[in-house]
This record gives sequence, structure tokens and C-alpha cells, in this order.
Amino acid sequence: MIIVKTSEEIELMRESALIVSKTLGMLASEVKPGVTTLHLDSLAETFIRDHGAIPGFLGLYEFPNTLCVSPNEQVVHGIPNKEPLKEGDIISIDCGAIKNDFYGDHAYTFPVGEIDQEIDSLLKVTKESLYVGIREFKKGNRVGDVGFAIQQYCEKNGYGVVRELVGHGLGRKMHEDPEMPNYGRRGRGKKFIEGMVVAIEPMINLGTHRVRQHPDGWTITTQDNKPSAHFEHNVALVNGKPELLSTFAYIYEALGIESNEEEEFRQKALVL
Ligand code: MG
Ligand code: MG
Repeated sequence: MIIVKTSEEIELMRESALIVSKTLGMLASEVKPGVTTLHLDSLAETFIRDHGAIPGFLGLYEFPNTLCVSPNEQVVHGIPNKEPLKEGDIISIDCGAIKNDFYGDHAYTFPVGEIDQEIDSLLKVTKESLYVGIREFKKGNRVGDVGFAIQQYCEKNGYGVVRELVGHGLGRKMHEDPEMPNYGRRGRGKKFIEGMVVAIEPMINLGTHRVRQHPDGWTITTQDNKPSAHFEHNVALVNGKPELLSTFAYIYEALGIESNEEEEFRQKALVL
């Protein structure tokens, strides 16, 4: 059952989304060669608690840490460890936080120093596909429209779209209805309802879409060990249109990246 949110609840969810957005922004300048993911995890936990929130992943389904940190061929759900990041790595960081009883859930894949052109393109296309998908989250559309748009965009670029892991409704629970796959068929699946909030999160592989789970019970990697990227926004359906609750602006500010992608998205969303 889809749990719709009142406009007051959506404002509370915006706060939760801002906490995780700021946390990733804080981490952006810490991601560099030599840094361990356990260090990033500890910074994130302190930051979230200092902002009056609770780490959303810690203890959820018994996950042991604040962040999911997934380097290179790891798709998602990587567990922080003492292995230092290396120049040329990529690292997907997924962060959850609870404030006012509502979850924020946000992810970004960071380059560590200079990365190969081929991998840089994977990051660029995966992030673009996130907005391509979000644009379909509007009145009259269905779950399959978002998945279809993401899948088409990524597959036409030659990438593999992970099937086993999906986006989801978001609210007082981390995973609410509906599931939001990054693949699908136009016009299929549950219809979008005013006031619903979802996490849209393409997980896109450079090679095969196939993945495997590691014996730790958490880490998901690509079967061919090629890199994978992951970007996630929290989005509310307001006045029939998608409204971004999370923002990459803090990351861009930290990294000195000029980007108007979210502003552009908002302008386009007005005319959907
Ligand atoms: Mg997430
Ligand atoms: Mg999520």
C-alpha cells in the first residue's frame, strides 16, 4: 500500500533529505586516495548526530554501519572497512538518516582522484539517467514509466541495468511501497499518487547487468567485476509534478563543480 504524505510531512521529509545531502557534501572533500571507508563512516555518523538526526542504516536489517560504501565493482551495500581508497577508484556512498521520524536516503558515486574516461562516462550517464527517470514521476504515469526511461537511457549507452535491486517508496519506513525498478515497461505497474515520496536510484554497470552477493551477506558486486555506479534522489509528487527533496548542491559546492542540473530539472518539471 502506498502511504501518501501531507504537505507538512513532505516538509519534514525535505529536512531529512537535506541532512543526508549535507552529509554527502561533507564527505565529498574527504574522498581521496589513502582515506579508509571506515573513516568516512565515522565522519558521517558524527555529522548526522550533530545535526539532530539518527543514522538511518545503522542497525536496519542489522546493517553494521552508518554508510553503505561500495568501491569499483561493488554495486551497493558495501560495508566500511580499513582498506584505503586508491587513485582511480570510484566509490558509491549511500547514506540514510532519520529526522522527525522520517527517512532521508541519498547516494552519489565519487571519483577518487583521476579516473579513466570510460568510468567517468559511466558516472555521467548514470546520473543523467536519474533525472531522466525522475521526469517520468508525474501525474498519470506509473512505476513502469520511470523504469522504462532509465533502462532505455542506460542500455542505449551500452550499460547493464541491475535488476535485483530497486528504488522504493520512502517515509517513516526506509522501504515503503512501491518498489521502483530501474527497468520496466511503459504504462505498467502502480499508478503514481499525489503526495507520495520515492527514492529513485539507478544502479548501472559498465558491463553485464548481472550481480552476485558476497558471503558477508551484504555486499553486491558485478558478476564480471567491472565498475558500477549509483545515484539516488528523494522525490515527492507535488501538484502532479516531481519535486526534488534531496540535492547534490553541497557535493558540487565542496568539489567546486559548476552544475545547474537541478535548476534545469526544476525548470523542465514546471512544464511537464
Ligand atoms: Mg540509498
Ligand atoms: Mg534507497
